[in-house]
Amino acid sequence: MLNDDISWLSEAQTQDMFMHFPLPLAIVGSNGDAKLINKRFTAAYDTSCLKSDQLRQVLSDPDNVPRTLTLLQCNDCQTEVRAHTVKLGEDVILILDESAETAYSEELTELRQRLTELEKLSSTDRLTGAWNRVHFDKTIAIELSRSIRYRQPVALIYLDIDHFKRVNDTYGHAVGDEVLRELVKIIQKNIRTSDLLFRWGGEEFAILVPSTSYRSAATLSETLRTKIEQHKIDTVGRISISLGVAEHIPGENEGAWFQRADMALYAAKNGGRNRVVVDPNGSSDVWAADQSATILRMSWHESYDCGEPTIDQEHRKLFDLANVLINAAFKRESNPPGFDEALKKLLAHVIQHFADEEAILAHHHYAGLEVHAQAHKVLIEHALQLRDSAAAGGVTIGELVDFIANEVVARHMLKVDREFYPLFNQSLSSHSR
Ligand code: GH3
Ligand code: MG
Ligand code: MG
Repeated sequence: MLNDDISWLSEAQTQDMFMHFPLPLAIVGSNGDAKLINKRFTAAYDTSCLKSDQLRQVLSDPDNVPRTLTLLQCNDCQTEVRAHTVKLGEDVILILDESAETAYSEELTELRQRLTELEKLSSTDRLTGAWNRVHFDKTIAIELSRSIRYRQPVALIYLDIDHFKRVNDTYGHAVGDEVLRELVKIIQKNIRTSDLLFRWGGEEFAILVPSTSYRSAATLSETLRTKIEQHKIDTVGRISISLGVAEHIPGENEGAWFQRADMALYAAKNGGRNRVVVDPNGSSDVWAADQSATILRMSWHESYDCGEPTIDQEHRKLFDLANVLINAAFKRESNPPGFDEALKKLLAHVIQHFADEEAILAHHHYAGLEVHAQAHKVLIEHALQLRDSAAAGGVTIGELVDFIANEVVARHMLKVDREFYPLFNQSLSSHSR
């Protein structure tokens, strides 16, 4: 007896191993239904015993410790057996052992090892070596709960090869397969080890990107798009991909999240292919808005990234220098030159950063540039005034540090700068060829 919904059992060899296992063996799904019952089992036991209370209890709590049960045999006699359970994904493998204590321990150990290998094999796509959807289902809940617990954004990139049918039609299916393998290699080379690449089906792939906002995922997508576009494949030449990006939103279910990535991909295809489209929503924006105004130590958060590399790098440095200043303020009594040095460095970086940011915004024809530049000017003037006043004994060091860390660095970056963030995602979407 074998149901056909056990993807990891699709290999004939594997089925054979279970069917001919030297002990009664059954594989039971999470709903309690048997997915496979081997020959030894049906020969010796009434299969309805799988629904008995004592077995159901064993199966609902698979802990690999053998338990002794009383079961009904086919000849209507009751017998004592030891029940071993091995968890495999959502399923439980039940093995009954009527023999002496250690008779089949080697077989059981071998079975467990084989199952571990199988589980890995059942999680990967045979053609490309990317993870498959079975593995996605296993990891998604873990990634989402981690994202919520640590307030780390998580993004999804959904991608599809452009006009792949033409590749198959022109060069044949085998060459098409080679293109899929090559695509996976390029993507693997350009993502982090913590990023997970799944073959979603056919020539569609999904990348789960932990600790990443939609802005940074957009930058990664753009890198992937460019790498693929520039790569020359033997026989076929160049191919391109379209990508859709969506970051998870608090409370959103998986399906809705996927749909947003899918819609972004659809828009990328519709917009002419070979491009990235980003859904500009995500937990990172929600969490950034919650950030408290009073900051004693400023910690950088992935969601503060806007996707423009120079600006992001300078913003991170602003945070680092502000932390040095906060630390120096605490130790100022014992080390006055340390504080002055930290203040000088931070102010110099603020001035440089504001100038760089204005140049980048001008380059992108940012409509709010004038207002933004004015905000920069006011902040710098006020900071310099406070610095002079503190040196002359006017305002306290606390007031000076508070203004610089909270107003110049945190508040300006977290609130005012966010107004130009959409600029970079829009520019990504228009990077088509
Ligand atoms: P679009 O730009 O709209 O995505 O066009 P497309 O031609 O890429 O998309 P379409 O969905 O029309 O065709 C996808 C093709 O992918 C059709 C199918 O033969 C091919 N395909 C799916 N899986 C495999 C596979 O495993 N190997 C090969 N070689 N081809 C595959
Ligand atoms: Mg497709
Ligand atoms: Mg396609």
